[in-house]
Amino acid sequence: MSRTRHLSLLTELVNLPTAPFCESRVVEFIRRFIARRPALKFSADRFGNLLVRYNPGRNARLQGRPILFAAHMDHPGFCATKMLDDRHVHADWRGWVMGSYFTNERVQFFTNGRWVPGKIVDVIRQKPISAEQRRAVASARSFGAEAPPAAVIVRVVKPVKPGSPGMWAIRDAVVRGHQLRARMCDDIAGLAGILCMLDELCRGKSRVPCMAFFTRAEEVGFAGALAAVEAKTVPRNAIVVAVECSKAIAGVALGDGPVLRVGDRASVFTPAATAYCQVVAEELAAKDKSFRYQRKLMDGGTCESTAYCHYGYDATGICLPLGNYHNMDTERRKIGPEYIDVRDFENLVKWFVALAASPAKLKFDGSHPGLSKRLDALLKQHRPRLLRTAAQVSGM
Ligand SMILES: [Zn+2]
Repeated sequence: MSRTRHLSLLTELVNLPTAPFCESRVVEFIRRFIARRPALKFSADRFGNLLVRYNPGRNARLQGRPILFAAHMDHPGFCATKMLDDRHVHADWRGWVMGSYFTNERVQFFTNGRWVPGKIVDVIRQKPISAEQRRAVASARSFGAEAPPAAVIVRVVKPVKPGSPGMWAIRDAVVRGHQLRARMCDDIAGLAGILCMLDELCRGKSRVPCMAFFTRAEEVGFAGALAAVEAKTVPRNAIVVAVECSKAIAGVALGDGPVLRVGDRASVFTPAATAYCQVVAEELAAKDKSFRYQRKLMDGGTCESTAYCHYGYDATGICLPLGNYHNMDTERRKIGPEYIDVRDFENLVKWFVALAASPAKLKFDGSHPGLSKRLDALLKQHRPRLLRTAAQVSGM
């Protein structure tokens, strides 16, 4: 596997413009990526989510259920709605960033193929309308957080077309030491990991088919994934591995490997699917001394796996530990670049390649793979002593 090739794909992707409902540049990138690789085919559902199939044709060998790797194509950001005069644009805000981070912050809009810089001069507060929204705002305030604005007014250096995505004015990605700092990592680094894996499958002429799924508007409440479930875009027999960049919480360290996410704030994922990912990771760790991974309940937020599980899919999650989650540099209390460890990214790609290759040797029937062998061995080992000592302890 080529680390340089993976890093350049990652860097190119995290520099793209995107925002919830404004993912066209990411879609375009994926289309071009697929067009250059004959073993990859893609289709879009009517909501604009992309399903990619890796199909090695006549050589295909799939014993077991196909793996579907899912990531989202958006990042919290702005969408230009209209020019108020030739230097001021009104833009909607979409996603979660605390309200206090917006004041006087610099942003940029991608319009006519280039970035147009600007500065927030006014914020338009959310007006909670439903009881549920009112409760959400109240609960955010109760732990010191302030809900983001509904919209902003930005002074721009030139006019911006309505529909243009807007992002924080953070420079293009840089890699220093083991750290990649970028305008966004969530979730485009996860998506890049899937594309690197697909590239490796094509190069290595893997004979095992698999799928990738790229959703829209996750940051507003996994809109794309919910619509895809309703439209039955995701094949029912697939084992969904949702890939995220997640706020590094206590007990999770950047550089210690991607995290097998057993659940999120809302639910615990399909235990057998999680166990399957763990078995593959353990096999990989035994062969490759540089491979590391972590296992954790990442309950800092809710992710798409909860939606997939809730609607009856077998789903689990893998995530990259993320610094400055949603661009909130909590030390400086200012907007800053998100960052990940590139060793975690490289291990993510290795893990995906191993997972994609595994259904052929690993039969997935809903039981915990790997676990039954271990439990059988324990029973076999201890049963005789239990029998021998039973009479003693029960006093018979
Ligand atoms: Zn996010």
